[in-house]
Amino acid sequence: MSEIVVKRLPAESGTSGWEAISRRCFPVRTLDGDVSADWLIIGAGFAGLSAARRLRQLRPSDRIVLLEAGEIAKGTAGRNSGYMIDVPHNLSSGEYSVASEAATKTEIAQNRLAISFAADAAAEYGMSVRTFDPSGKINAAASERGMKLNASYARSLARIGEEHRLVDAGEMREITGSSYYLGGLYTPGAVMIQPADYIRGFAAGLVSKVDIFEHSPVLKLERLSDTWRAVSRRGSVTAPKVILGVNGHIEDFGHFHGRLMHIFTYASMTAPFTGRSTGKDRWALLPADPMGATVRKISTDGASRIVIRTRFTYDWAVQVGEKRLAGIAAEQRISLDARFPDLKDVPFEHVWAGRLCLSRNHVPAFGEIEAGLYSACCENGLGTVKSTLAGVMAADLATGTRSDMLDKFSDQPEPARLPPEPLAWLGVNSVIRLQELRAGREG
Ligand SMILES: Cc1cc2nc3c(=O)[nH]c(=O)nc-3n(C[C@H](O)[C@H](O)[C@H](O)COP(=O)(O)OP(=O)(O)OC[C@H]3O[C@@H](n4cnc5c(N)ncnc54)[C@H](O)[C@@H]3O)c2cc1C
Repeated sequence: MSEIVVKRLPAESGTSGWEAISRRCFPVRTLDGDVSADWLIIGAGFAGLSAARRLRQLRPSDRIVLLEAGEIAKGTAGRNSGYMIDVPHNLSSGEYSVASEAATKTEIAQNRLAISFAADAAAEYGMSVRTFDPSGKINAAASERGMKLNASYARSLARIGEEHRLVDAGEMREITGSSYYLGGLYTPGAVMIQPADYIRGFAAGLVSKVDIFEHSPVLKLERLSDTWRAVSRRGSVTAPKVILGVNGHIEDFGHFHGRLMHIFTYASMTAPFTGRSTGKDRWALLPADPMGATVRKISTDGASRIVIRTRFTYDWAVQVGEKRLAGIAAEQRISLDARFPDLKDVPFEHVWAGRLCLSRNHVPAFGEIEAGLYSACCENGLGTVKSTLAGVMAADLATGTRSDMLDKFSDQPEPARLPPEPLAWLGVNSVIRLQELRAGREG
């Protein structure tokens, strides 16, 4: 009998601006009592909710229970910048940094499958274009180095026949209202989501078919002959099959220890403003150098806001403090003012951090890890898409639904082992910081 006591639960830092401006339209239910089900899903992020939707498609009459430690959209799933990206994010210096051309094509096909799954959900659950916007995105360059990275990226995309368009400084000014950028590279396949609205809309679409319990952390998971029993604060769920969509917290369930990097990244959202030089109503910029700043403008009801995301830190305690948050928000203020001097008197209204989970060899922590226990974890930083896919694939694997996509997705090595702590902490943070400093004006 396997018994796992979960000692560490997710801890959030700051309030996500996306969540703060999003409205919730279904009540919070908490597990109270002992229930049994055909399926238990743990974690209501992209992975867990996508697994739930996929299971509903494959096994419409099965009972599915989903347990979430916190509240829907208050965790990382409602804290991200909302870029659902189809073409790989990790292209650098004109080279595919982790993969060959063939592997990159596979990755693009996987990303597009996830985006199309998300698009079907968005349509079925009635999400508006403000929540799910297939607008594409621009990789913005603010330095000569950034311009070179974009030029190499464009060449790489051309080689594999991917649509893209270079944007000059004048057009960047027209789009963003800022003279900060020297150029950009537009790719049309990305979808921009309002992450908290998307996650809430997704959960709202499922609540009549899936029992979703929030504030119901799994504190213990035990194997009882041929079923699993998950114990929460005021009840338990027994099910023969369990899908874990807890991202880096999979370690707290006793798996992949010493193989996952717990990375935090940080974001700030301005107060609403009107009538400033910030260009069009909506735009979305990724940095030409992946270690730079992601900057996005949204507009609702005649007022606009800008969201800026920068910095990465490795924190193996899977928690960051308010002091760090405030320090990075001060840096983000400088980055924002440099781009938009006209916004100097518009304060940040929300400042927050959120967790990513990376592996050294860029693979997910995926598969049947014990009999009847499936992992859809470790999203390698792009979970809006990768965790959506992992959730779908975990449901396919657990129901025996075979496909080429599942074969390829399952055929990946385990996340590689990291050096022991504190060596990993020291090494990873040093590399990140050097790369961030090299990003210069892109940050
Ligand atoms: C500031 C920021 C910007 C980002 N920008 C982007 C972006 O633009 N594009 C992109 O693709 N990605 C982005 N990301 C990353 C993205 O948010 C994550 O990759 C994604 O949320 C991962 O989804 P997930 O479902 O795997 O995990 P999560 O969203 O972390 O969901 C896991 C869930 O499991 C729950 N859980 C954990 N332990 C337990 C337990 N014991 N019991 C019950 N529940 C538990 C957690 O509470 C959580 O809700 C960003 C992240 C941050 C922080």
